[in-house]
Amino acid sequence: MTTTISPLIAGNWKMNGLRGSLDELASLAHMLISGENPRAIVVICPPATILSEVAQLGATAGIQAGGQDCHTQAQGAHTGDISASMLADAGAQYVIVGHSERRADHGETDDQVRAKAEAAIGAGLKPIICVGETEAQRDSGEAEAVVAAQLAASVPEAANFHDVIVAYEPIWAIGTGRTPTNEDIARMHGAIRQQLSARFPEQGPTMRILYGGSLKPQNAREILAVENVNGGLVGGASLLAKDFYTIISAV
Ligand code: PGA
Repeated sequence: MTTTISPLIAGNWKMNGLRGSLDELASLAHMLISGENPRAIVVICPPATILSEVAQLGATAGIQAGGQDCHTQAQGAHTGDISASMLADAGAQYVIVGHSERRADHGETDDQVRAKAEAAIGAGLKPIICVGETEAQRDSGEAEAVVAAQLAASVPEAANFHDVIVAYEPIWAIGTGRTPTNEDIARMHGAIRQQLSARFPEQGPTMRILYGGSLKPQNAREILAVENVNGGLVGGASLLAKDFYTIISAV
C-alpha cells in the first residue's frame, strides 16, 4: 500500500439490510471504539432506507455513510430514483457509482456513470467509481484494455479537484470467493495508477484505488498490502461486524 494515501474500507451492503442490521452496525461501532484506532477510513453503504440511521449510529464510532447509487440529476420526475443531494441530506459522505451490478441490471453506461459521479461531486459527496472486467474479457487478455476504457469514460474531469475514488472490481470475483492473484491485482492497480496520474498530474498519484471482489478476513491482509491498493470495497464480508472488523484491522 502506498503510505502517503490514507486507506479506506467501504462496506457495500447491496440489497441486504433491514432495520435489524443496525445491530451489526452497533457491534461494529463497539469494536471500533474499544479496539485500537483503525488505520483506515471506514464507510458503510447500506440500502437507502436505513441510510440516515447508519449515518447517525456510525458517527459515534467515526464510521461514515455512503449511498449505493445516485441519479444524474438533483431532483425531478424520476420515480424510484434517489439524487446525490438526497443522499447527502440523509447523512452520506460517499456514493458508489457504476457498480457492475448496476451496469448489468440497469444497463448503465460509462457516460451515465460519469454523469452520476459529477452529480455526486456537485452534491458534496465523494464518488466511488467502479470498474472491472468480466471473466471472458480476462480470459481473452482484454482485462487491462477494458478497465482502461471504463476508467477513461467513467471518471469525470472534476477528479482533478475533488476527492474521487476508484474501485477495481473484477466482475468474476464478486460474490464468488475467487480473487485474482496478487500479481494480477498489482498489475491492474499499477495500470490504473498510471492512467490516473497521466490524466490528472496533480491528483492522480494520490487518488485512492480500492480493490473489491471476495475480499474476506482470510485474504484481506495480503490483498490490502499489494502496491497501489489503497483499501477495499467489501460486499458479503461487510454484513457481519466481526468479519468486517477483521478486514478493517488488516489494513
Ligand atoms: P463481494 O462484493 O465482496 O461480496 O465479492 C464486492 C462488491 O460487489 O462490491
